[in-house]
Amino acid sequence: MKIAVLAVQGAFEEHEKVLHKLGTETLQLRKSSDLDNDFDGLILPGGESTVQGKLLQELGMMAAIHDRIMNGLPVLATCAGLILLAEKIIGEDAHHIGTLPVTVKRNAYGRQLGSFHYESGFFQGIGTFPMEFIRAPYIENISDGVEILATVEGHIVGVQYQNQLAVAFHPELGGDRRIHMYFLEQMVTKNPC
Ligand code: GLN
Repeated sequence: MKIAVLAVQGAFEEHEKVLHKLGTETLQLRKSSDLDNDFDGLILPGGESTVQGKLLQELGMMAAIHDRIMNGLPVLATCAGLILLAEKIIGEDAHHIGTLPVTVKRNAYGRQLGSFHYESGFFQGIGTFPMEFIRAPYIENISDGVEILATVEGHIVGVQYQNQLAVAFHPELGGDRRIHMYFLEQMVTKNPC
């Protein structure tokens, strides 16, 4: 099994470290020819979604990633990755992948609460999970078929839609690897494509 990690900007190294600890091979996606390699799943890390979107467009990777996800490639998106994946971003029409039928709000918690740790978040199918939010988005609306996996204070912060798993927080920080394990075991290994 090999997992590609988008490595144009942001917190991709932390995801690689988690995957290596779980004994999983990784591949960095930095340019469009990297997409020619074989891989079984994709991670879109946190960072700055506007920069990531701009780079994906300029590097000619946006359409290919969009198509791979639409064709069933399992993807785990965290924070800025969730923003890139969302169909709609409130108040913005920046370049993004747009395969996940949800609406997100960027920097949704305001300046004061831009970054916070939520110790006892609950994640469906996993249980209590410590959640690290950094200038995080939340999901304001979902379409039919999107499963809500986590909410914090009434806001949706984790969803799954078919082959797409997206969270507003940073599961790669803090040492709890169960969301990555869920992605690898339940979505990548069992992927019928
Ligand atoms: N605030 C960032 C954005 O809007 C996301 C922050 C993060 O990924 N931790 O892109």
